[in-house]
Amino acid sequence: MKKCFIISNWKLNGDLVFLKKNINIIKKEFNFSLKFCDLAIAPPYVYLHTMYNYIKNTSIHLAAQNVDIHTQGAFTGEISVSMLKDVGVKYVIIGHSERKLFHNENYDNISTKFVLIKNFNLIPILCIGETEEEKKQNKTEKICVNQINYILKTQGVEILNNAIIAYEPIWAIGSGKVADANEVQKVHSFIRKYIASINQKVATNIILQYGGSVNNNNINNFLDKKDINGFLIGKASLTTENFISLVKKAEKKMSLLNRF
Ligand code: PEP
Repeated sequence: MKKCFIISNWKLNGDLVFLKKNINIIKKEFNFSLKFCDLAIAPPYVYLHTMYNYIKNTSIHLAAQNVDIHTQGAFTGEISVSMLKDVGVKYVIIGHSERKLFHNENYDNISTKFVLIKNFNLIPILCIGETEEEKKQNKTEKICVNQINYILKTQGVEILNNAIIAYEPIWAIGSGKVADANEVQKVHSFIRKYIASINQKVATNIILQYGGSVNNNNINNFLDKKDINGFLIGKASLTTENFISLVKKAEKKMSLLNRF
């Protein structure tokens, strides 16, 4: 069955009032009612535990926006993967372009985080993607391969079992400039073929999400693309009504696609 995995990334937004209102509406609409979509929410760290209490025993999953490279010790301000696991997190976003841009995150760190997350049996969501300049220079494929290879070179392709790659062209994130759905499909197909050239089974199973200004008005363009298995959604997930409508569109389209 073809499914669509949608993650709502709140970034540095929201508060307890928003959390309660948002999750109550989402639960009312979607708890155990979605057949073709899976949902996860990534609130800021401080709200993870509260969110967990709202969504435990539901079909909605909890995601974290980041994790530290250390497991414990004198690292003021950081959060470890075991702490995330402790509060019910299942998915961890790593390598988001905002962390690379504003927090000097590099691929050594991202690679370390990826392995740690896997070691704790959580699911990494590895963000990859090119800048606008790199796109103009036709370097998108090369950039994606380099970013994936950073993980593969020390771990081998099996590390991508039960992992997610989110293709997020940096120029499309939070900019309102959504990428052309056919171009995204081409990039996703390229990524899957690249992984398949090393291991076909891993490539077949990997979830490839797209992220970058996806919203209620443009999601339909992406839903029937063969290699797009879901979405990482920032801004559009902060307006609950729009998010609900977006998920409903995804569910409807997926149910149609699964008939054939
Ligand atoms: C993101 O932060 O990963 C993202 C895709 O944000 P937005 O939907 O706001 O572009």
